[in-house]
Amino acid sequence: MITRHIAFSLIVLATTLTQGCRHPASTKAPVAGPHVSLVTVGKVDPVLSTRVALWIENNLVAVVDKGTMPIKAPYTLETVCAQAIKERDQTALATVVLVGGLTKHGQTHGFVFNRIALVDVDMLHPTDAKKKGWEEQFTRRVEKESLAGVSYAMGMPACVFSLCALKPAESMEELDAKGRNLCPPCTQKMEAILGQKLPQP
Ligand SMILES: [Zn+2]
Repeated sequence: MITRHIAFSLIVLATTLTQGCRHPASTKAPVAGPHVSLVTVGKVDPVLSTRVALWIENNLVAVVDKGTMPIKAPYTLETVCAQAIKERDQTALATVVLVGGLTKHGQTHGFVFNRIALVDVDMLHPTDAKKKGWEEQFTRRVEKESLAGVSYAMGMPACVFSLCALKPAESMEELDAKGRNLCPPCTQKMEAILGQKLPQP
């Protein structure tokens, strides 16, 4: 039996860290107030990214949808990470990158680096896609792990409560069983980081 490592991994890209990143000023109007950015790479259903953006916005903080990051195929985890760092929104508290169509998957579906949370959505696909309700199950997995990843990217530690979205899941069953939101102690910590109350569900 293959053990799936599904917790988030912290990775450090030393070269890009030391180079620093400058990019041309965005042509879009600046967003006032704290926000996270959302970017997609490759085959990611816009309905899915919209659900993720709304979930984060309704439970954490405002989201700016930056759309699709153009990248030359075939792309790898490393090239996506490097480009995401180069093009990240410097005004955002953190960025969530939803990636589909990687040529090779990493050891986990989630990576956190340089205030970026990368979620390999293909790895969260239910194995039985004919099962009733699989689309909702898949969407909820991506919502949970995007909210968790962006929280880690903002400096939140992992949580020990089994129902909290920030509890690293050891299996897909645990991932499906945990909540999509932060537990009360994590809510307090996140509010301290943001300097504002979280939206009331
Ligand atoms: Zn928690």
